[in-house]
Amino acid sequence: MAATVETDVAIIGAGPVGLFAVFECGMLRMRCAVVDALDAIGGQCTALYPEKPIYDIPAHPAIDAAALIEKLERQAAPFTPLYLLGRRVERLTEADGEFTLGTSQGDTIRARAVIVAAGAGAFGPNRPPLEKLAGYEASGAVRYMVARREEFAGKRVVIAGGGDSAVDWALSLKGIARVTMVHRRPKFRAAPDSAARLEQAAARGEIEMAVPYQLRGLEGDGSRLSGVVLATLKGETRTVPADHLLAFFGLSMELGPIAHWGLGLDHSHVSVEPSTCRTSIPGVFAIGDVAAYPGKLKLILQGFSEAAMAAHAIHPLVFPGEALHFEYSTTKGVQAPGAASG
Ligand code: FAD
Repeated sequence: MAATVETDVAIIGAGPVGLFAVFECGMLRMRCAVVDALDAIGGQCTALYPEKPIYDIPAHPAIDAAALIEKLERQAAPFTPLYLLGRRVERLTEADGEFTLGTSQGDTIRARAVIVAAGAGAFGPNRPPLEKLAGYEASGAVRYMVARREEFAGKRVVIAGGGDSAVDWALSLKGIARVTMVHRRPKFRAAPDSAARLEQAAARGEIEMAVPYQLRGLEGDGSRLSGVVLATLKGETRTVPADHLLAFFGLSMELGPIAHWGLGLDHSHVSVEPSTCRTSIPGVFAIGDVAAYPGKLKLILQGFSEAAMAAHAIHPLVFPGEALHFEYSTTKGVQAPGAASG
C-alpha cells in the first residue's frame, strides 16, 4: 500500500553510505526515511558481493560486505528510520522549503532536506543479449550475483566475464562446483594476484577455461538450464553442460530519474561542494558513490565522512536558528529522535 510520510530527512538509497547517514542525522536528532529500489538494504554490498571480504573499513582488518551492512543497520536502529524498500524515487519537487518525493509505488515523502545516496543509480546488471533469457533468470538458472555460494555445491557453473567479480567467484566456487570460465579476451582485467591464481587453478585442472569465447545461447526447457552455447569470434560454436550461468558484465550506470531533477551533473554523477556535499539545489545533498568533486574516491569510508558533513550542513534546515555545538558521540550518547511518521 502506498505510504504518506513526514520526516526531517529523506534519504534516497539504502547502500552503506545511506545507512550511515541515518546514524549521523540521528545523532543530530533528525528523523530519516530511507527509500531503495532494491528489496533489501545494503546497496552494492548486498546486491553484488555479500560474501566478499572488505579490507579497508577502519578498525575492521576484514569484514564481509553482508556483515558490514548488518552492523550499519544495527548502528542506525536506535534512530528508528523508516525503510521504504522495493520502490524507486521517481519525482522530487520543492515548495516553501519542503521537499516532496514520489515513488514508483505511489508513496509520498515530505522532508525538510534530501540526501541522494544513490550509488550508481537504481542499478541493474548488464545482461547478455541471449534468447529466452527471462525464463532462465526467473528460475535462478542465470544470475548476476551470488548471495550464498553453497547453493552452487555440486553444480555445473559457467562464469562469464573478465573482471574481478568473475575471477573472484570462479576461485571461490571451484572447490564446491564444476566451474567453466568464459571470457572473450585472453587477458583478464582482474587484480593481478587474482588473475595469477586463476591461471594456476586452470593449470591444475580445477577450472576449465573457455577463452577466447563469448556467450551465444542457452539450452534447456526455458526454465531449467542444461547447457551454455559458446562461440569464438570466428563463429565456431561449442556447448558446455551447465546448471547455472553467472554473468558478470558489470552494472549499468544509469542515474535514472535523478538525472532529470535539475541537479548539476558531472558524467552521470551529482556535483557537490566538497565540505558540505551540497548540490546545486539548496536543501538537496549528495553523498557516496553518486557524489562528484575533485579528489573524490569511490570508497565506503569516504562516503561515511560525507554522511557526517552532510548531516551537519542539514541541521540548520531542520532546526533553524538553533546553534549546533560540535560534540563527540561518546559525549552525546545515542538518543532516538522519534520515528518518521507514516
Ligand atoms: P550503493 O551501495 O550503490 O547504494 C545505492 C543504492 O541506491 C542502491 O541500493 C540503489 O538501488 C539505490 N537507488 C539508486 N537510485 C535510486 C532511486 N531513484 N530510488 C530508490 N533507490 C535508488 N568499496 C570499498 O570501500 N572497499 C572495497 O573493498 C570495495 N569492494 C567492492 C567490490 C565490488 C565487487 C564492488 C562492485 C564494489 C566495491 N566497493 C568497495 C565499492 C562500494 O561497494 C561502493 O563504494 C559503495 O557501495 C557505495 O555506497 P553507496 O551507499 O554510495 O551506494
